[in-house]
Amino acid sequence: MSSGPQLSPTQRVRQLLRPIARRVGLASPEGAWWELGFKPWVKPKTITTAVAVCNICHWSGDEFIGPYHTEMATCPRCGSVARDRFLLFCFLSRRGYVKNLRVLETSPRMGAGYRSMMRRYFKYTASDYDLSAHEGDIQIDLQAMALPDSSIDILLTPHVLEHVPDTEKALSEIYRVLAPGGRMYLQVPLCYGSTQVPSTPEFHADNTPVFFNFGWDLTEQLRLAGFTTTVLVTQDFADILSHVTECPTSNGDGFNVEDLVAMGRPTDSSPVADKHIAKVFGFLPAYHYATWECIKPN
Ligand SMILES: [Zn+2]
Repeated sequence: MSSGPQLSPTQRVRQLLRPIARRVGLASPEGAWWELGFKPWVKPKTITTAVAVCNICHWSGDEFIGPYHTEMATCPRCGSVARDRFLLFCFLSRRGYVKNLRVLETSPRMGAGYRSMMRRYFKYTASDYDLSAHEGDIQIDLQAMALPDSSIDILLTPHVLEHVPDTEKALSEIYRVLAPGGRMYLQVPLCYGSTQVPSTPEFHADNTPVFFNFGWDLTEQLRLAGFTTTVLVTQDFADILSHVTECPTSNGDGFNVEDLVAMGRPTDSSPVADKHIAKVFGFLPAYHYATWECIKPN
């Protein structure tokens, strides 16, 4: 970007101001998205007009890449899939932003750009158990966490607990390392109403097998471990669970929606994303989105 002599004074001023304009959202972004300074907890102003918006990198456009599915609807800029966006949305809309929160995320699906963005706002650490499949900053076994008591404010744990053999041990360790008032935002694939053990070996793109396909009864296990727990869902899903709107039929996407609705307890869930937010952030279809919020009492 050179400022040639042919530029008018106005153009030169515009060129000088462009990086600032980009930062405040008045000019289109350029360069690495995580260096743009967008805050993931600010709703983009484009949200009222755009069809699709990414709450992680603030991309907006006509549509995400791929169909609406928790594992798809990919953001063309940061590569987030819908469940990545829902996890961060749940954390930040419920907890709010507090500078320098100690955030630990187990096996984040997103790479260096996302982690760099998180480090800008939090004391952020990414961990992993199987370092051959992912790249964490530290290696952590949830059943024996090499971390001091009360050393974490927020634990983000997407699609990991189902790979841990001893759920009770893991929940007890998580409870120990969370500070009083600390929170876990927990995602597991929720495809069935009640917890099942896979009948055939199941792997999810790495070397650790799936020990459980959790159902809604995970809420009880979390409460027994001491947490104050609710399941965060979209308003659309809350309406389906409380029979305000009709249950959609299973469409071969791997989710047994009839079973989910039959076993779901509306009083155990809390809506976090209204219809408009859910649509623009790509949290569709509704029954794909559930994140357990687990608070360690003060
Ligand atoms: Zn994005």
